[in-house]
Amino acid sequence: MSEFELIARHFAPCGGDDPSVRLGIGDDGAVVVPSDGEDLVFTCDALVEGIHLPMGAPPEAWGRRLVAVNLSDLGAMGAGPRWALLALTLPEFDDSWLSAFARGLGERLREAGVALVGGNTARGPRSATLTLVGSLPARSALTRGGGRSGDSVFVTGVLGAGGYARRLWNQGVRERALLAPYLEPNPPWRLGPALRGRTTGAIDISDGFLADLGHLLEAAGLGADIDIEALPLAPGLDSARRADLDLALAGGDDYELCFTARAEEDEPLRAEALRLGVRLTRVGSLTEAPGLRLFRGGEEVPLPKILGHDHARRAP
Ligand code: ADP
Ligand code: MG
Repeated sequence: MSEFELIARHFAPCGGDDPSVRLGIGDDGAVVVPSDGEDLVFTCDALVEGIHLPMGAPPEAWGRRLVAVNLSDLGAMGAGPRWALLALTLPEFDDSWLSAFARGLGERLREAGVALVGGNTARGPRSATLTLVGSLPARSALTRGGGRSGDSVFVTGVLGAGGYARRLWNQGVRERALLAPYLEPNPPWRLGPALRGRTTGAIDISDGFLADLGHLLEAAGLGADIDIEALPLAPGLDSARRADLDLALAGGDDYELCFTARAEEDEPLRAEALRLGVRLTRVGSLTEAPGLRLFRGGEEVPLPKILGHDHARRAP
């Protein structure tokens, strides 16, 4: 099969029929038409075999996870997803691998209403990178740095599910349902647009709750007090066990949202989350004093030694 046949067979069907796409897959570049009065938000996330996904991960999970991790970033900006570009590098162009990958990718793109408008295909170590473009009303993007002391800190979903499922994979478990939080996460990106105008800071959790919350705090120049007993731990994890607690606080691979908001937004935010079927938990508040502090029943508890995953740092 030639490269063109490969793209026509597997990826052209992900193009959709959105009228905003003037020119999709097939030319030297894509041409899309943004709406008047909208800002565009660009994000890009890569999956590299052996780093973000383990050797031997199912191809469908590659496709599904690739879309999910990018939707997670757009959600954290409050944008609705529109167009995507796919850069794919594979050691061999195996048709059954490609079919399953494109199925997972296409399913998730369709669900989100995203048109695949182009990409690049090359031979090399297995990796897949998606550039995802979203849109929102002008100047309404959610950013990281606006929090004030006393603001509530919220997280969506549960913490530790991704890390727990990663541990199961490493132990040899291969049941799709058990591995889904790790291999094919389902980020609550639809909540993002509903947060516009209501948050003072927003970020998606991917490297670890504390590490990502730390980025919010840095941007705001503030600290936070976090109540361990309020944390929504994944089923199977017990916050009384230190290893479980650390997995939830710093394990990474949870694709959830973390954001801050003024106290008067608590109720409207809960109502929006309920409407969208997203679990939302208030886990603490911002403080003038910098740094992160954990409390259990009013007693301060030490932070984990590592707050999350840092790709630039090598494992010790
Ligand atoms: P060029 O050489 O001009 O960069 P290519 O021959 O690489 O173009 O690709 C031909 C067309 O197919 C382009 O429109 C490109 O965007 C698209 N394309 C290539 N690889 C992919 C892919 N993996 N998924 C989606 N579209 C792709
Ligand atoms: Mg060209």
